[in-house]
Amino acid sequence: MKINENFLQLKENYLFIDIAKKVNAFIKANPDAKLIRMGIGDVTLPIAPAAVEAMKKAADEMGVKETFRGYEDSGAGYDFLREAVSAYYRKLGADVSAHEIRINDGAKSDCGNITDIFSSDNTVLVTDPVYPVYVDSNIMSGRKIICADSDESNGFAAMPDKSIHADIIYLCSPNNPTGSAYTKAQLEEWVSYAIENNAVIIYDSAYEAFISDPEIPRSIYCVDGAKKCAIEMCSLSKTAGFTGMRCGYTVVPDELVMTASDGSEVSISKLWNRRQGSKFNGVSYPVQRAAEAVFTDEGQRQIQESISYYKENAKLIAETLERCNVPFTGGKNSPYIWFKCPGGMGSWEFFDKLLNEAAVVGTPGAGFGKNGEGWFRLTAFNDRENTIEAMKRLEKVIK
Ligand code: PLP
Repeated sequence: MKINENFLQLKENYLFIDIAKKVNAFIKANPDAKLIRMGIGDVTLPIAPAAVEAMKKAADEMGVKETFRGYEDSGAGYDFLREAVSAYYRKLGADVSAHEIRINDGAKSDCGNITDIFSSDNTVLVTDPVYPVYVDSNIMSGRKIICADSDESNGFAAMPDKSIHADIIYLCSPNNPTGSAYTKAQLEEWVSYAIENNAVIIYDSAYEAFISDPEIPRSIYCVDGAKKCAIEMCSLSKTAGFTGMRCGYTVVPDELVMTASDGSEVSISKLWNRRQGSKFNGVSYPVQRAAEAVFTDEGQRQIQESISYYKENAKLIAETLERCNVPFTGGKNSPYIWFKCPGGMGSWEFFDKLLNEAAVVGTPGAGFGKNGEGWFRLTAFNDRENTIEAMKRLEKVIK
């Protein structure tokens, strides 16, 4: 027996372990301090009532012989949900057919699983700082990984370097951790780079629902040519509070066709359907009914209330940083705010200062890649009262 030694190349991810250690030590030394967690990446508001109702109804159906459902035929998602997602895409200005959509148990799974259908020889390009799943899943399959720098000079929105070749490109917009979001013109540049390089873009749009600026596309398919080169992954986790429900979707367009080594044309969706057909048995019926309810008018109205609540928190954080003259990205079309540690401090140095002087917990940017050093991430997922209080304390620390 030989193990997959690529796993030995993975860096230990100590980020959240180290944060927890420091926070626990602080609580022990300061048992009366009112700690505010502004590093949380999970939502805090409950799922929409329309989704709860739909799930209850579906659970009842499962308990009755005539309406009980077992395995779903293809595991690709029920037509009712794929049609609802397709109609949602039309509203975003993108033409995506129901059969191009596969329902999954969240974006994280497919971000990793998609690597199965590509050769290990491919060079993978990620933007740095980066959501670690893209890096780790490609290290596990032994691929070469290169980075496009997201930094202060480009507003933490890395653009392609035409002199460097890549085969698989991961883009995340709005971005975790930096909160930056690509404009249409920027996405057009990425799409033309991918087409020139015969590359595929894996586009993670998990935070698309936080976009309010009409200049920022909510799907890569709002860009001409993207269906020839991009796979899009989205999730209801942050949009509809589904982190504990587990439901998302991946789009592999019909037009996405690549040439095999024998010169034959291969449909990427055919490979993906084959992969999923062998390894994935679909998402539970009640969860898919709940997801369908999210896309109804009532569901959309309800989720918008939660999104607006988080966005108001993000605005409060952004206003605080503006008042303090601290450079930052995000906060407008994203629940993440990414700012420069004041006084030239390192990410961890500032983490310690904010924890010890203000009892506020954030996430050191250094944990997301080399360009994150000296930067810091706060999230808008706490409640209003805590966000207001945390901002008062942050302002005091910065000043
Ligand atoms: N993609 C990004 C950029 C994320 O930040 C997250 C979760 O934090 C995910 C995907 C995972 O989402 P899901 O809960 O659908 O697996």
